Amino acid sequence: MGSIHHFIDGKAAPGRSGRGGDVFNPATGEVSGRVDFASTEDADAAIASAQKALPGWAATPTVIRARVMFRFKQLIEENVEELAQIVTAEHGKVLSDAKGSIQRGLEVVEFACGIPHLLKGEFSENVGREIDSFSIRQPVGVCAGITPFNFPVMVPLWMFSIAIACGNTFVLKPSEKDPSAANWLAAKLLEAGAPPGVLNVLHGDKVAVDSLLTDPRVAAVSFVGSTAIGEYIYSTAAAHGKRVQALCGAKNHMVVMPDADLDKAVDALMGAGYGSAGERCMAVSVAVAVGDVGDRLVEKLVPKVRALKVAPGTDPDAEMGPLVTKQHYDKVRGYVDIGVQEGAKLLVDGRGLKLQGYEGGYFVGGCLFDHVEPNMRIYKEEIFGPVLSVVRAPDFKTALGLVNDHEYGNGTAIFTRDGDAARTFVSNCNVGMVGVNVPIPVPMAFHTFGGWKRSAFGDLGMYGNDGVRFYTKLKTVTERWPTGIKGGAEFTMPVMR
Ligand code: NAD
Repeated sequence: MGSIHHFIDGKAAPGRSGRGGDVFNPATGEVSGRVDFASTEDADAAIASAQKALPGWAATPTVIRARVMFRFKQLIEENVEELAQIVTAEHGKVLSDAKGSIQRGLEVVEFACGIPHLLKGEFSENVGREIDSFSIRQPVGVCAGITPFNFPVMVPLWMFSIAIACGNTFVLKPSEKDPSAANWLAAKLLEAGAPPGVLNVLHGDKVAVDSLLTDPRVAAVSFVGSTAIGEYIYSTAAAHGKRVQALCGAKNHMVVMPDADLDKAVDALMGAGYGSAGERCMAVSVAVAVGDVGDRLVEKLVPKVRALKVAPGTDPDAEMGPLVTKQHYDKVRGYVDIGVQEGAKLLVDGRGLKLQGYEGGYFVGGCLFDHVEPNMRIYKEEIFGPVLSVVRAPDFKTALGLVNDHEYGNGTAIFTRDGDAARTFVSNCNVGMVGVNVPIPVPMAFHTFGGWKRSAFGDLGMYGNDGVRFYTKLKTVTERWPTGIKGGAEFTMPVMR
């Protein structure tokens, strides 16, 4: 059983609180490690380290910061198997899925490698007589990132790769459920050439988080997690004068029109509903069957949900691994009980699943509800498990209304062959990320990820141009030079050092 310490100032830093939490292997239910929970003193040390590293790092030329990112990217690529195994061991997701999520995080590192170009400002000559004006983007300072269990590599990479490339230093507070990947990333960034203190990892719970939200040395807070916590993070950090982006929970609807290619729609629902055991903020948890498509859709779904291959994430044939913790396992099964009590029709029941040799694992088989109604809790609340609800809608307008009336607005999709329906849907849905015949429309690294309504608080999303804006302050300079300054001649090829 391993001890998982904080990573402060470029080295492992055992916690001083005496508090900690068990980390489990979700496939077996066995404790695999113990992670330190920070005291306010530990948090102070992490923030102080980031504060100390800030001036030097912020003054480092962008091309040099970019080169660190290039090396970091290479180190992750060279060691992707090892990193994926760490993810699977603590999160439980299937290895190939773990690798896919690392790849989506790496794409943000690739984006950050272009930071010299991304930080170029604007220049206007002669805004007045012999007066020029230009704008520059400067780092905001010490940034904090608080991340969820479901993407222990990808979501931290969304945040700190851009923050650090922009010249900030960072304190990452990863999920206490799968904390090891964060330490691995911090060690690799150091190896890639980032000075100690540029990325610190602080483990723990509310004590660690509250320190980051209230400490005056922290300038910006990024959060990804559930809506209840995100709302608290947003209001508390903003009340302490910080800029905040908080990306939160979801209930993503996929609308299936009567003219959709049904086989493709069913495959899309299987992957988007049950991949990663439904523990994705962009998972599809509601299928809206429009018109007469409902019976045909359900008929094709049922055998596929029954045939889902549920196994430990290390099994190469596994399509779905276990849930992350016993508490989450109980919660997801509890929601299935609630759905039955509420009168939804449970067509496939995964509650009884037991895997031989893995009786202690947190496995729930795929569950499928039909005739789910908008007033039911299983429709209104985020379950975050392998539970797909089919809602019947008589027409397109009703389907669009369901999407728009839901309190969450992270992602949505429409499956149709009708360009008019797709275009009307894209224009009128009140949701941040939309797919047309694409079930999980997670934007690429050079676009921006972010939901609407109660799926996000703050006005800038993660990565892409929004990421650069969030992690930089804009300064606009107006300049007049009555005389120029001339230097001596230099004969060698100038290079950045
Ligand atoms: P969570 O809200 O329980 O935890 C997120 C982070 O907040 C963790 O680091 C945790 O330690 C911390 N935290 C938990 N309770 C806290 C408290 N009382 N005070 C301060 N900090 C606290 O979320 P989770 O269960 O780890 O992740 C699943 C949730 O994340 C789902 O709701 C999912 O939709 C959401 N999510 C959203 C996105 C997105 O981009 N919108 C992406 C991934 C996950």
